[in-house]
Amino acid sequence: MDLLEQLEVQRVINASGRMTALGVSTLDEDVIAAMALAARSYVDIDQLQRQVGTKIAQLIGAEDSMITTGAAAGVALMVAASITGADLTRIQALPDAMGYPNTILIQAGHQVSYGADITQLIRIAGGKPHPIGSVNSVSEAHLTGAIGPNVAAFLFVQSHHTVQKGMLSLKQVISLCQTHNVPVLIDAAAEEDLVRFTGSGADLVAFSGGKAIGGPTTGIVAGRRDLVEACRAQNAGIGRPMKIGKEALVGLYTATAKYMQRNVEAEQARCTQLVDEMLAGFDQVVKTERLADEAGRGIERAGVVTDAGKAAELVAFLRKGNPPIYPRTHLVNLGIVAFDPRPLGDGDVAVIIERVHAFFAR
Ligand SMILES: *Cc1c(COP(=O)(O)O)cnc(C)c1O
Repeated sequence: MDLLEQLEVQRVINASGRMTALGVSTLDEDVIAAMALAARSYVDIDQLQRQVGTKIAQLIGAEDSMITTGAAAGVALMVAASITGADLTRIQALPDAMGYPNTILIQAGHQVSYGADITQLIRIAGGKPHPIGSVNSVSEAHLTGAIGPNVAAFLFVQSHHTVQKGMLSLKQVISLCQTHNVPVLIDAAAEEDLVRFTGSGADLVAFSGGKAIGGPTTGIVAGRRDLVEACRAQNAGIGRPMKIGKEALVGLYTATAKYMQRNVEAEQARCTQLVDEMLAGFDQVVKTERLADEAGRGIERAGVVTDAGKAAELVAFLRKGNPPIYPRTHLVNLGIVAFDPRPLGDGDVAVIIERVHAFFAR
């Protein structure tokens, strides 16, 4: 009996993506070995935190970086840093901003839940979320009209969770904010092209270490040296309950180094083959579609196309099976159930095809 069985926890087939709720990623053996080494050692944590941050910054093309417990912690720390700088009294007063500028601008269609409400990350850090525009329409005039003396930063959310039309582009936001000296913070939690964001002109970017990078439960805040320093300084304040351990620090370093060296074509070919196999299997019993990513990343998925009612039933059927299968549900209202190839292991595709056949044979 393995430990998960002893704990009475089921293994699931993750066909959903890099989902925090399903364990995000499985770790490479080199990452596991690095974490085991750290687990057996004492180190000066501040030194390790700083060194890993410096080296990861070099890998991803940023001035400096700080390692966090996740992208969500990263967003809170970026907001805190933009309100307090490195001033210890102000850091320790948060979430009271002591009357200093604390308005954080965010496009109305970016006020999403990533599993929790993103505006709460602003409030935890002493910021006041100030939505601009409407949920489906934001103009440059909304942004320039909202800029004033109490604005501390602009938070841009790069995600499939946001409204994908009618929003200002990252380029527009950076250009306008630079003109008005407003720092731009990006939540790029699940993005695959890290350098695109560190090199975008934004002041700080938050990534999830467990998503595209495939590391342990961690995150990265990368960007302007003085602001990264101000993020680190939050460890004497709201950063303390978000503190990260030595195992995760070295695990993320190893994962990031491998991620930046990865063979993109080989990984894409593996995913294309898995999608082809799923489409061929599903095709025997139901209409299918090859799906592009909702947020424009280079990810393709296999889609089962039916009506909205059947799609919801299929999702419930797959989740209740043994092993439970978690497909991607973002398009269920359109009758589409999607299967993400990235997290699938050997043998998963055969099980998924068999369960989809079983559903349509009922
Ligand atoms: C996943 C996600 C987060 C949270 O990331 P963690 O690393 O789990 O803290 C925040 N924002 C967005 C847009 C996400 O997709």
